[in-house]
Amino acid sequence: MSQHIVILPGDGIGPEIMNEAQKVIDVLVNDDALALTTETHAFGGAAYDISGEPLTEEALQACKKADALLLGAIGGPQYDTAPRDKRPERGLLKLRSELGLFSNLRPALLYPELADASSLKSELVAGLDLMILRELTGGIYFGEPRGIEERNGQRVGVNTMVYSESEIERIARSGFEIAMQRDKRLCSVDKANVLEVSELWREIVVKVGESYPEVELSHMYVDNAAMQLVRQPRQFDVIVTSNLFGDILSDAAAMLTGSIGMLPSASLDDNGKGMYEPVHGSAPDIAGTGQANPLATILSVGMMLRYTLNQPAAANKVELAVAKVIKEGYRCADIAGSDTSAEKQVNTSQMGDAVIAAMQTS
Ligand code: NAD
Repeated sequence: MSQHIVILPGDGIGPEIMNEAQKVIDVLVNDDALALTTETHAFGGAAYDISGEPLTEEALQACKKADALLLGAIGGPQYDTAPRDKRPERGLLKLRSELGLFSNLRPALLYPELADASSLKSELVAGLDLMILRELTGGIYFGEPRGIEERNGQRVGVNTMVYSESEIERIARSGFEIAMQRDKRLCSVDKANVLEVSELWREIVVKVGESYPEVELSHMYVDNAAMQLVRQPRQFDVIVTSNLFGDILSDAAAMLTGSIGMLPSASLDDNGKGMYEPVHGSAPDIAGTGQANPLATILSVGMMLRYTLNQPAAANKVELAVAKVIKEGYRCADIAGSDTSAEKQVNTSQMGDAVIAAMQTS
């Protein structure tokens, strides 16, 4: 039975990087006989330009029916003056909530050859491979009560960090499932020494862990986790944490790798259906110049094969091909170091072609 992917190229460099991801999918279909079908829809600013809506009903229905979604990036300065509810980001928020995408996976992987791009010493980060799972639809960003109100003659701002047992249970389960597919080590990050919500978080994570005896579970306070991420980041395999803590820690982890053009991500629902996208935005400053690095999007295809489409061999093939082109010295502008003498400087489509050549000779 074939698996169906909805492709949303989006805005700015979105269509350029998505062309390269599509080439990779075509190779898997044509050379490896993977039963994948695709359909493409305008999304974000591109959809607003055509229809006046960033997410059309037709695209939403197609996304609901699909097995997986692949998104380029959305947004651009020309939409800053559009009505607030018609802006590209609104389309993305609506899509995430309509599909119930509550588990955000952000890998931080640093190829040894790119270790110089990191802000940390290369001996600390070379070969880094960690995964941060952030709860995406609960916690302090959504908790009630919230607002700014008058108390005792002055204004106070209020937000509420709230998690139900079922919300904690499903993100914990997601964490254990991901850990089972990796090195079987899960670190749950909380602030249980101060916050009751974290006390409950820890209790539920421990309980869910009873069903995963093979996974080594540890707990860490968020302040220590921030410190450990910059002190000894390779100690982690999978980190699972709440919305607020994950927002902060995943950006810190991304910086450890040095280049935003290399980082894929995923947002999953209860059944493992997911939307896969590069971490970066639509980069309007380089759109149309051929400088966009397509590897984050190609690695998003790899994640989609692994975590939603259940095709680990194909996922390995894509990931190994990316590792090979980096090893062979292919570099887009964003990952070209200061010493470019030994490197093969390439544009967006040449990088895609190099990945395909690596896939076909593996
Ligand atoms: P950005 O990630 O688009 O760009 C930041 C910097 O990184 C720029 O200098 C850009 O040229 C560079 N860059 C990004 N991706 C690259 C790639 N693949 N290859 C080479 N260089 C790359 O962030 P921004 O400039 O803050 O935002 C631009 C637009 O993207 C805004 O409209 C923003 O709202 C939107 N955005 C969208 C998403 C998304 O679609 N999920 C995420 C973040 C930002």
